[in-house]
Amino acid sequence: KSLAVTVQVDPELPLMETDGGKFQQILYNLFSNAVKFTPPRGQITVRAWRLGEEEMTIAVSDTGPGIPEADQEIIFEKFHQLDSTATREHGGTGLGLSISRELAHMLGGRISVESKLGEGATFTVALPLRPPQPEPSAEP
Ligand code: ADP
Repeated sequence: KSLAVTVQVDPELPLMETDGGKFQQILYNLFSNAVKFTPPRGQITVRAWRLGEEEMTIAVSDTGPGIPEADQEIIFEKFHQLDSTATREHGGTGLGLSISRELAHMLGGRISVESKLGEGATFTVALPLRPPQPEPSAEP
């Protein structure tokens, strides 16, 4: 598709301690959506930077069709796709974003989207630099 991909990593970003498999799955999902929905010769940008003392952020931006504001919450629900007609142009199951949100929560983080219809989309994941401590058990 002749997409241009740019990666910008903040040199101040420290090493983080997290579940690498879950982290990779979130990134794959966001990146493959960006590739899928961006028309030929578009631009995808992946940026990572430190967020305060305890978190980092990674954002995947594209120059695709964007997502109307009214749909920006429901796309994170299971099996939800904005174009669900039989003739839809893009494949997929509608599971990627709901899985990504669950994985981000498991890692103690959160995922969100910013977009304007016709102006591309930016999916942002904020994650703690250290894994969350498990809740102490109520049992003695
Ligand atoms: P799938 O990609 O398998 O359809 P997802 O859960 O990853 O499922 O995405 C759900 C829906 O959100 C997609 O079908 C699409 O309508 C919308 N969407 C996701 N990523 C983007 C994007 N980068 N640009 C435009 N729409 C998107």
